Amino acid sequence: MTKSTSDTMSGETPGKTSDKAISSWVDLSAYNTLAIPALAKELCVVRHVEELQTCIARVKQENLPFLILGEGSNTVFLQDYDGVVVLNRLTGIELVSQTQSTVTVKVAAGENWHDFVAYCVSRQWYGIENLALIPGTVGAAPIQNIGAYGMEVKDTISELEAFDVSSEEVLSISNDACEFGYRESRFKRDWVGNKIITSVHFTLSKEKALKLDYPALAQNLTHDSSLKQVFDEVVSIRTQKLPDPKQIPNAGSFFKNPVVSVSDYQALQQRYPDIVAFEHGQKMKLAAAWLIEQAGWKQKQVDGVRVHQHQALVVINPERRPGEAIQGFAQALKDDIQQRYGVMLEVEPRLIRLTK
Ligand SMILES: Cc1cc2nc3c(=O)[nH]c(=O)nc-3n(C[C@H](O)[C@H](O)[C@H](O)COP(=O)(O)OP(=O)(O)OC[C@H]3O[C@@H](n4cnc5c(N)ncnc54)[C@H](O)[C@@H]3O)c2cc1C
Repeated sequence: MTKSTSDTMSGETPGKTSDKAISSWVDLSAYNTLAIPALAKELCVVRHVEELQTCIARVKQENLPFLILGEGSNTVFLQDYDGVVVLNRLTGIELVSQTQSTVTVKVAAGENWHDFVAYCVSRQWYGIENLALIPGTVGAAPIQNIGAYGMEVKDTISELEAFDVSSEEVLSISNDACEFGYRESRFKRDWVGNKIITSVHFTLSKEKALKLDYPALAQNLTHDSSLKQVFDEVVSIRTQKLPDPKQIPNAGSFFKNPVVSVSDYQALQQRYPDIVAFEHGQKMKLAAAWLIEQAGWKQKQVDGVRVHQHQALVVINPERRPGEAIQGFAQALKDDIQQRYGVMLEVEPRLIRLTK
């Protein structure tokens, strides 16, 4: 087992280098990619696990609500947060072990995800290249098991470390225990507010293993393509297709693709022969973007909020409206889709509402 000196890549993202350790009534616009101007009663920036432990111990002692925030690219503040927002800025990368064909690295939860993907690609480590340019931190990647272009992060996570709020200890958690699924894990269910990911161990391949089944990738790439070419192609496709949150505030896909039974799908197909769907185990996954577009939502705007012209799944907030406006828009869209197709859309980002 080899251990290298700890390495770090992070340039500070939304919070910039001026982050003080603790500040009061902070505008969170710069800390969420929808640019929602909600306030946080307190913002506590943690750069080391010890700082996280101290912060949580105090929060518990004072009985304050708290929320862990990475880069805020999957979080919707519905109102001001009357508690402590704990901004995860833990950094460092360590080589844990390697064999002839694999390498295992431990990555601190506050590292930027895309920078970590680029770091692996530059070392010829295969396994996460299709997930390039997904915004956010490494520590948030397991929360909803990020995925894109036929790849899911769960397939490279060997284990992770999380601070357990009840016992105040850092625990080692196996991949199996996380119960990963499509945009799912226990961190979104029974572990919310009790397990804070501090680092993730990834096992990557040193041998060539490209995943090019996804049609958009198969178009310009072959199995002779290099790892760097795959990475560049993913970056290029995403740049063309998705709005950059720095230019047009958004949180990526706002709705999950709904999974329905085969008989429900067949009934819909009778009524809408062009409906787009994919096999999903014994069920069918409907393309939510198709439902939204066919229902005419690309032409609608509610309270300054709308969907993106090139990608109907992405809700955009160009006027930097508050969380209530985003929620109002999403609810109107969901109600309409339910009425038209009998399908209930589920919101993908976490909605944060704090009532005392
Ligand atoms: C333009 C755009 C494109 C996107 N594309 C994709 C895509 O292709 N695939 C995909 O899967 N997602 C995508 N997303 C969603 C988002 O990038 C991911 O969900 C990302 O992992 C969120 O990281 P974050 O640090 O910003 O999380 P945040 O928004 O800060 O946090 C998300 C949730 O995780 C919790 N959390 C964060 N860090 C921790 C931690 N260390 N321990 C415990 N809980 C924590 C937070 O409390 C919150 O509930 C996209 C988003 C945008 C804006």
